[in-house]
Amino acid sequence: MKPEGSSRRGWSLRDFEIGKPLGKGKFGRVYLAREIKSKYIVALKVIFKEQIEKYRIHHQLRREMEIQTSLRHPNILRLYGWFHDSERIFLILEFAYGGELYNVLRKHGRLNEKHAATYIASLAQALAYCHENHVIHRDIKPENLLLDHEGRLKIADFGWSVQSKSKRHTMCGTLDYLAPEMVENKAHDQAVDNWTVGILCYEFLYGVPPFEAESQSDTFKRIMKVDLEFPPVPHVSPEAKNLICQLLVKDSSKRLSLQKIMDHPWITKNANPEGICNV
Ligand code: ATP
Ligand code: MG
Repeated sequence: MKPEGSSRRGWSLRDFEIGKPLGKGKFGRVYLAREIKSKYIVALKVIFKEQIEKYRIHHQLRREMEIQTSLRHPNILRLYGWFHDSERIFLILEFAYGGELYNVLRKHGRLNEKHAATYIASLAQALAYCHENHVIHRDIKPENLLLDHEGRLKIADFGWSVQSKSKRHTMCGTLDYLAPEMVENKAHDQAVDNWTVGILCYEFLYGVPPFEAESQSDTFKRIMKVDLEFPPVPHVSPEAKNLICQLLVKDSSKRLSLQKIMDHPWITKNANPEGICNV
C-alpha cells in the first residue's frame, strides 16, 4: 500500500521508521524513512514550526504542499501527505534514490547530448503538465531536480511555484536561472519556465550556466542583453545550440513552446523516450 492522501489520513511519526539523513535544506532536514505497515520507503522532510514562524513562510509552505499533492506526473516528485506534532511539520515525499541532479553535474562536469536531451525532454513534459494545471514553478535549477533509482528526473521543491491564470508581480528564484522579465521584476507568466529550460540545456552541455559572472550585477546585465556565447567545443551539436537559442529569447512570447521542445530534432534524435538515464 502506498501512503496516500493528506494529513486527514491521520499519519503520525509512529507510522515510520526513520533512517539516514538525506540532506538539509534552508528550513529543515530530510530523512530516509519506511512506513512500518506497508514497508514503503519514503523521504520524510522535517520542518520546525519555529522556523516557519520566524521566516513567515506559512503561506508559501501551505501552497507548496497543496500544489505538490495535487500534481501527478512521472517527472514530478510526489508528496503523499503530511502530519505535524507540537514542534514540527513532516512531509511524506517520494524517495529519490539518485539524489540531486546538481551532484551528477558537478561529478561529471557536463553531460553528453543523450543524457542532456533525456533530462530536457522529461523537464519539458513535466512543465507542460504543470502549465496545463496553471502551475508555474519559477525555481527550476539543478538543486531542485532529483533523480529516482532509474535515473528518471523528478521536479521537487514547489516552494516558489504559483498557481495562477494571470501574470504575476513577484521577485523570486535564483539569479542564474532567472528570465529577463523576472530580473526586471516585471509581470511574468509561464514562459519563465521555458527560459529556464534553455538555461539548463546550456548548463547540462557546457557545465556552467550561460550568464555566469563575477558579480550579481554582471549576471543581471548579461541576462538583460541575452549575452549568449557558445564556447567552441566539439561535443555540442548545432541542433543543441539551435534549441538553446530558441529558448533564451528576451521576448517571452517568442520563446519555443514546451510542445515544440519535445518535437525539436535534437530531442527526438537524442532523448531516451522512457526518460531513463544512467549517467
Ligand atoms: P529548500 O529549503 O530551499 O527547499 P533544499 O531544496 O536544499 O532547500 P530540501 O528540499 O529540504 O532542501 O532538501 C534537502 C536535500 O535533501 C536535497 O537537496 C536533497 O539532497 C535531499 N532530498 C530532499 N528530498 C529528497 C527526496 N525526496 N529523496 C531524496 N533526497 C531528497
Ligand atoms: Mg530543494
